[in-house]
Amino acid sequence: MNFKHVTVAGSGVLGSQIAFQVAFKGFDVTIYDINDEAIKKAKERIEILKGRYKEEVINAKDDVAAIASRIHYNSNLLPNIDVIFQKEVDYVEGEVEAGYKRIRFSSDLKEAVKDADLVIEAVPELISVKEDFYKKLGEVAPAKTIFATNSSTLVPSQFAHFTGRPEKFLALHFANEIWKNNTAEIMGHKDTDPAVYKQLVEFAGAIGMVPLEVKKEQPGYILNSILVPFLEAAQMLLLEGVADAETIDKTWMLATGSPQGPFATLDVVGITTAYNIMQNYAQTADSEDKRYARMAEMLKRDYIDKGKLGVATGEGFYKYPNPSFKDPSFLKA
Ligand code: NAD
Repeated sequence: MNFKHVTVAGSGVLGSQIAFQVAFKGFDVTIYDINDEAIKKAKERIEILKGRYKEEVINAKDDVAAIASRIHYNSNLLPNIDVIFQKEVDYVEGEVEAGYKRIRFSSDLKEAVKDADLVIEAVPELISVKEDFYKKLGEVAPAKTIFATNSSTLVPSQFAHFTGRPEKFLALHFANEIWKNNTAEIMGHKDTDPAVYKQLVEFAGAIGMVPLEVKKEQPGYILNSILVPFLEAAQMLLLEGVADAETIDKTWMLATGSPQGPFATLDVVGITTAYNIMQNYAQTADSEDKRYARMAEMLKRDYIDKGKLGVATGEGFYKYPNPSFKDPSFLKA
């Protein structure tokens, strides 16, 4: 794998994270988005991520210091935790700044992909938007460029013929908060060149992900084949008035020992993406009770129209930065 230049198309929740992580790991990154307004938002997201990466090391230092205090870490004999970690903080700060400087922005697709070895697509989870994007991309990208979709629920064979290069097209799917939830599910379609697949496995490792090889096309890969029905079941309970979001989350957390419930997870995913998934299902696979259409309507009416898009906007099902489910009293009787 000799990639140098990576273009990330779409700079929303996931696109911005992918771009930052790839640049942090030493690749030159171009972020492409549709217009100046979207590029302005992309720059703001990248600025926030720069802070998040630095915060992660500082939080890790605090966690280690807390453990050290419990195991009687002898700071007379051993180096002070702050001293050890200052080196890490300095190192990561240097890497974060260097990565930040490797990112460029463009709203001109041809210009954005002119040097790209790889384009990672993270545009909205809407079939028509992705189709249109691949048609345009196929026309302007150099012949060498590999295309990878980060789609959560759609499969590469749905778009392969629009790319003009089906053998160089596959899925590379990341999880939200990529820097710590570092999975990369890699999934080809029947015409993906095995050599291209192998290069993507290597690339995933090079950007700090654990490559997870999905052996056949599966809508939702491994993660979302489990997660989407789980989140859907929780939303159905809310929609039908069985319990409120906090009670549903609390039940899940207490019964499974999980650190967060389905609605806290939806806040991280972003309510817009959850809405788009429900809309897709409403159009392609709704049941007699029109559950997907009703769930989409609930998300739009109660959250999206009120600007509650999840963690990214400071409010979704919970308010951030200090959501109630993180309060130790949340799980008490
Ligand atoms: P988002 O709505 O946050 O961001 C979408 C971005 O695409 C926006 O910046 C928008 O301006 C841009 N865009 C719109 N039309 C475009 C076009 N024609 N060309 C280029 N850019 C365009 O969406 P998201 O949550 O980041 O999801 C993006 C993709 O990543 C989806 O396929 C989604 O399924 C997938 N994904 C999302 C998550 C998640 O947790 N949010 C996790 C894994 C994968």
